[in-house]
Amino acid sequence: MATSKSRKAQPLMKQDRDRRFALEGNPFEAMMSRFDDAATRLNLEPGLYRVLRAPEKQIIVSVPIPRDNGEIEVFTGFRVLHNTSRGPAKGGIRFDMNVSLDEVKALAAWMTWKCAVVNLPFGGSKGGVICDPSTMSDREIERVTRRYTSAIIETLGPESDVPAPDVNTNERVMAWIMDTYSMHKRHTVTGVVTGKPIAMGGSLGRKDATGRGCLVVTQCALAKRKMKTRGATVAVQGFGNVGSTAARLMSEAGMKIVAVSDKSGGVFNARGLDIADCLKWVADKKFLDGYHKGERVSNAELLTLKCDVLVPAALENVITSKNADDIQAKIICEGANGPTTAQADVILDNKGVYVIPDILANAGGVTVSYFEWAQDRSGYFWDEETVNDRLHKIMTHSFDEVHGMSVKHKVSMRIGAYMLAIDRVAAMHRMRGLYA
Ligand code: GLU
Repeated sequence: MATSKSRKAQPLMKQDRDRRFALEGNPFEAMMSRFDDAATRLNLEPGLYRVLRAPEKQIIVSVPIPRDNGEIEVFTGFRVLHNTSRGPAKGGIRFDMNVSLDEVKALAAWMTWKCAVVNLPFGGSKGGVICDPSTMSDREIERVTRRYTSAIIETLGPESDVPAPDVNTNERVMAWIMDTYSMHKRHTVTGVVTGKPIAMGGSLGRKDATGRGCLVVTQCALAKRKMKTRGATVAVQGFGNVGSTAARLMSEAGMKIVAVSDKSGGVFNARGLDIADCLKWVADKKFLDGYHKGERVSNAELLTLKCDVLVPAALENVITSKNADDIQAKIICEGANGPTTAQADVILDNKGVYVIPDILANAGGVTVSYFEWAQDRSGYFWDEETVNDRLHKIMTHSFDEVHGMSVKHKVSMRIGAYMLAIDRVAAMHRMRGLYA
C-alpha cells in the first residue's frame, strides 16, 4: 500500500468529484463527494484513499417468509461492513421500501466516519431489508427479522459486527436479533446488538441518546453564534424516535418548538407547540394528521419556515439544490443521516447557515450504543445520570474538535468532521499496515 505521506492525492479525484456532483440524490455519491473533498485537503495517500472508499464486505440475502395468509414472500436484505480497522463494525438495520445497496453502502461508510468523529473503538456497517413494516403484522416482522439475522449470522458478533435500531426498527426487533443469534450460539449473547430493551441488557438513556446528542450540539452551535438557548425557535422534520425526542428535550431546555412533522405532514404554531401534547396525540392516533393546535404545513414547507434551528430528523436528501436557497434557519442540526445533498452544502455555506453535520449531530445514538456494548461485556450496568453525563462530555468534546478542525483548515463543520474522521481511520491503517 502506498502510504508515504509525501505522495499527493491523484488528479483523478477531481474528475470523480465532478461526476459525483451531477448525481444529486444518490446517497453513496453524496457521501463520496464529501469524502473526496476532505481526503484531498488531508493529502491522503492514493493507496489509502482506495482502501477507505471501498466497503470491506457487502452481503445481499434473500429473506423468504410465510405471510400470515400462508403465502410465501421473498424479501431482499443487505448488510455492508465498510471499515473495521478501529474495531467491530457498528451500525443500524432499517426496514424500508427505499432500502438499496447504494444506500446501505453510504450509510455504512457514514457509520465509520461517525464512530471516528466521536472517537469510539468501532468501525462502520449498516443493514436493511426492503419491506414496508406498516403493512406487516408483528408476527411477519418477527419472521423477517429472524430469517434475515440467520442469513447474515456469520458477520454478526460482539467482536465483529453489532447492529442497532434504525429507520422502522426498534428495541423489539433488537430483542429478536439477540434471541436468534443466541439460539445459534447456544448461549445468551447480549452484546451482539444495542438498543435492546433495558430488561435484557439495554442501556438506560439509549432511547433518548440521539435526540439528547442533537440538543447538546445545538446548544454548542447556539453559543458559537452568540444566541441563547432559551426562546430559540426550532422546526423539527420527523417525529420518530430522533425527532420527537429532540423536540421534547429542546422544549424542556427552554427552546420554542414552532413546527413538527411526520409522514402525514406537519403542524406549525408561532407561539410554540406543546410537545408533550403532540406526543400524546401520536401515541393515540399514530400520526400527527388531524392535530389541530396549529396550522397544517407540508414537510417541504416546514424546511423553509422562519426559525433559528432546523432539525431534519427524517430521511436522506430533503435539503437539495432546489430548496437550499429558501432555508431561513440560522442553524441546521442533522438528526437524520444524509438529509443534505453535497450540492445543497455549497448553497448553505454561501448563505452562512451553520450546519452541524449528521456524523456529529446524530452521533449520540451510537455513543450510548458503545456504552451499552461496554456494559454488556463487563456485566456491570450504569445509572442514567452516568450515561447522560458521559454522553454530554463526548458530544461537547467532539463538537469542539470538529469546530477546531473547521477553523484550522478554513472549511465547513461538515468537511471538518470528515477530515477529523478520515485522519483517525487513516492513522489506524498506517499503524496496522497492509496484510497481503
Ligand atoms: N442507527 C443509528 C445511527 O445511524 C445508531 C447506530 C448504532 O447505535 O449502532 O447512528
